[in-house]
Amino acid sequence: MAKAPVLTPRADDFPRWYQDLVGKAELADNGPVRGTMVVRPYGYGLWERTQQEVDARIKAAGAQNAYFPLFIPQSYLTKEAEHVEGFAPELAVVTHGGGKELEEPVVVRPTSETIVNDYFSKWVRSYRDLPLLINQWANVVRWELRPRVFLRTTEFLWQEGHTAHATYEDARDYAARIHQDVYADFLENVLAMDVVPGRKTVRERFAGAVNTLTLEGMMGDGKALQLATSHELGQNFAKAFGTRYLSKDGREEYVWQTSWGSTTRMVGALVMTHGDDDGLRVPPRLAPVQVVVVAVKGDDAVLDTVRGIGDRLRAAGIRVHVDDRTDTSFGRRVVDWELKGVPVRVEVGPRDVDNGTAVLVRRVRGSKEPTPVGALSEILPTVLEEDQALLLAQSRERRRDRTVEVTTVEEAAEAARTGWARIAWDTLGVEGEARLAEQGVTVRCLVAADGSVPASDDQPGTVAVVARAY
Ligand code: AMP
Repeated sequence: MAKAPVLTPRADDFPRWYQDLVGKAELADNGPVRGTMVVRPYGYGLWERTQQEVDARIKAAGAQNAYFPLFIPQSYLTKEAEHVEGFAPELAVVTHGGGKELEEPVVVRPTSETIVNDYFSKWVRSYRDLPLLINQWANVVRWELRPRVFLRTTEFLWQEGHTAHATYEDARDYAARIHQDVYADFLENVLAMDVVPGRKTVRERFAGAVNTLTLEGMMGDGKALQLATSHELGQNFAKAFGTRYLSKDGREEYVWQTSWGSTTRMVGALVMTHGDDDGLRVPPRLAPVQVVVVAVKGDDAVLDTVRGIGDRLRAAGIRVHVDDRTDTSFGRRVVDWELKGVPVRVEVGPRDVDNGTAVLVRRVRGSKEPTPVGALSEILPTVLEEDQALLLAQSRERRRDRTVEVTTVEEAAEAARTGWARIAWDTLGVEGEARLAEQGVTVRCLVAADGSVPASDDQPGTVAVVARAY
């Protein structure tokens, strides 16, 4: 008799498969308030590794971490007209505190441009204070109507960068630098995720921005997910909050600004990009546990061997976990590690101890091979790098196979049933974009003919990438 599948197969019901995986791999549970989530330790471990990698890149780009309050006076949000219009439907507003009605309601931050500018306007005096490059790690709240765990939650964890510059060019270049050196680099080189860098159309732009750069990834079902965004804010917030500086030639000027963010959504993206019918497959460079050493049975020789292997691999710089919970059946534990997507399992039973070998199981490619215990620390770093590369190659292949070039709105809508479409932007235009939107299909981003990010929407040769999105 065939084994009952642990998860709903992806081909049967992709959203159900995602929910099953998030639950059974112990990543998260839904919280009691709709749209909230409880992130469990394994899921949080994936987020912590994401934070470490993203944070290191942010610091390399020169920004420093700081922290601003969770509560923002409601009046701040209304100071920038487009910003309030965009965010008003998603705000959580506190009207009571300490048992009394508040004189002025406060909003729970949906993003921090307004409060950051209030302080930037005090901190920035002259051109010597610029650029001012700040990042914060925090939670934010946006009252989402169609929540989905990790991908779109009402409260989510993120980093948000906020910067002020003396010139338009400096701000523009910094937004592009974060887009490339922080987000694209992390997504491709750590998350092993193929991404398309581009600019958003006016319709899809961040509320209050003059330009939004995005990275879009294709999920296992052919839908798109916006993974991280980097905005040029122009002088919109500077004018609303009076963030000015004294220039070298003694004139009062408004600063030019950027903001940029990435969130716990990336954990959901990891699941939807690399997961298979047995569970998650975590890219080795991200994995909180890269190698799990599993004792097949609880006898002393086996336990000694697995602990010894664990010590040697740890000394070789590998993130390793020793599974010696032999009061749970070996089969159950294997299913569990498959679900969690740990890249490599090293399994040791009594016969292996006699032979001086272990069974090396590679989650990404599903291979099993007996391997001499003494060789493990030497070969594992190569194995991990090979599997990292394979995940990226598979992700690239998926987008290549499921993207088609089209010339009409109808063809674009049809292609978006199973994948992505590329259509000349001067053929589609804002009217075609609106017609697609009626069918639940959006322009994910605009890209230049050579794959770079176009400098403007009307740059000749610009192509619209069109898809259904999460
Ligand atoms: P924004 O400040 O709107 O540009 O958002 C920054 C990033 O947050 C976006 O690029 C999305 O990837 C992500 N994001 C937006 N809304 C949510 C949400 N409700 N849950 C998780 N991530 C989100």
